[in-house]
Amino acid sequence: MICEHGNTSPCVECDIEPLRAENEKLRKDAERYRWLRDGNNEKESEAVHIAVNFYGFEWDEMIDIAMQEAQP
Ligand SMILES: [Zn+2]
Repeated sequence: MICEHGNTSPCVECDIEPLRAENEKLRKDAERYRWLRDGNNEKESEAVHIAVNFYGFEWDEMIDIAMQEAQP
């Protein structure tokens, strides 16, 4: 069997792909956490606003939007 990378098993790239995906997911969560943590150093920040006014299941989406808006 030849994989999408044109290799026969075992393929290092096939092994690495799920790890890359997991790494990306973990990185994203870590960025959100640091953004929330640092934002809570101030009383009137977007991070505090989100933490106080939104349910937890909404946080990922709200934080992503706020982080994007904060970029120049
Ligand atoms: Zn492969």
